[in-house]
Amino acid sequence: MTPKEFDAHHLWHPYSSVSDPAPMHRVARADGVTLTLADGAQMIDGMASWWSAIHGYGQPSMVKAVQDQAAKMSHVMFGGLTHDPAIELGRRLLDITPAPLQRIFYVDSGSVAVEVAMKMAAQYQQAVGRAGKHQFVTPRGGYHGDTWKAMSVCDPVTGMHHIFKGALSIQHFAPRPPIAMGQDWTDDDAQNGLGALRAILAENHATIAGMVIEPVVQGAGGMYFYHPRYLDGARALCDEFDVVLIFDEIATGFGRTGKMFATDHCEITPDILCMGKAITGGMMSFAATMTTDKIANGIGSAEPGVFMHGPTFMGNPLACAAAAASLDLLGTTPWRARVGAIETQMRAELEPLRALDGVADVRVLGAIGVVEMDHFVSSAQAHPISKQLGVWLRPFGHNIYCMPPYVTSGDELSKITHAMGEMARVL
Ligand SMILES: *Cc1c(COP(=O)(O)O)cnc(C)c1O
Repeated sequence: MTPKEFDAHHLWHPYSSVSDPAPMHRVARADGVTLTLADGAQMIDGMASWWSAIHGYGQPSMVKAVQDQAAKMSHVMFGGLTHDPAIELGRRLLDITPAPLQRIFYVDSGSVAVEVAMKMAAQYQQAVGRAGKHQFVTPRGGYHGDTWKAMSVCDPVTGMHHIFKGALSIQHFAPRPPIAMGQDWTDDDAQNGLGALRAILAENHATIAGMVIEPVVQGAGGMYFYHPRYLDGARALCDEFDVVLIFDEIATGFGRTGKMFATDHCEITPDILCMGKAITGGMMSFAATMTTDKIANGIGSAEPGVFMHGPTFMGNPLACAAAAASLDLLGTTPWRARVGAIETQMRAELEPLRALDGVADVRVLGAIGVVEMDHFVSSAQAHPISKQLGVWLRPFGHNIYCMPPYVTSGDELSKITHAMGEMARVL
């Protein structure tokens, strides 16, 4: 079997079938913003490896940080042991996150960060004497990961509720925040979505532990950008009904929307914040869940007095070193200006695509560009076009989108937007 045949026959890929395998490009190297395939062909990576490779690939200071750490200690258990990479990363995270978030739980992936956040909310409610509160409310259109609890708060239509019906926890779904980013906000609760959220909380607050929401950008659930004022209103409602507010910043964190975190678009802060994807600059899987003293102390105040979670690879030193190196780069490179320039250029180059047949909407926020079609776009059909045009894009649902590394040059970005236009024309 050739390597490609072996792959097709034996290896599962994300959301794929091994009996009817999807087309694959075999990548041999990744340097800067470029993927080099095994046959020598090259593609600019418009996806930044699912939002994570914000500095591009092979960034020397990050490679060195991981190599140096690997030579010293690639892993030790975090139970009963600690180490400088975890401490150094913790210091950096406190510097860039809202001040109330003081307590950090390291995990292996985004979905687990969401599991941990939901578990914290439930354990907190139980510890402070509100034992009936164990369900969650979330807006429609969300995506929070593929593990069980995370899956239960994904959009009930585009998520996996129909497949795993009966096996998933029952949650409460509020309407998607109806006022888009850039539209005028209204305080009329009947129009801004907060009336519907209030109604759910008023009726069910005795059983609701927390609200899970992606702030400002709903990512894999539909690439939708909504008005940050919704979050101010949600915060007030969560306070009124003793509900823990959880921001899932796994897609938005570390500058993607033009601010360090999407929560920086609004005045309020969440009780719990999940981060992942870009945390190691795409070097490896890692994530973190941060919370306040109030939640942490609440959990500690009652039996069993400890937070009941502890992954084997918690606080992995290699991942901590990679994350610290990535944050140092954010501290020393002009990422805000770069993301701003990417935003301006994408607006100019994507906006004209509105005129094409089949294009329903064009949206840009920070380094996220979306061309929404009025029909389903097949990623399998997009696959050969990527190689032909030398730009890696993987459309999903109705959306042809990109979220390039921040170091993408103007010329490279033009190739990406051109490829998005070609896909909008032919798919
Ligand atoms: C990708 C993503 C997750 C899941 O992260 P994994 O690392 O894939 O488990 C959760 N929430 C959001 C908002 C995401 O974009």
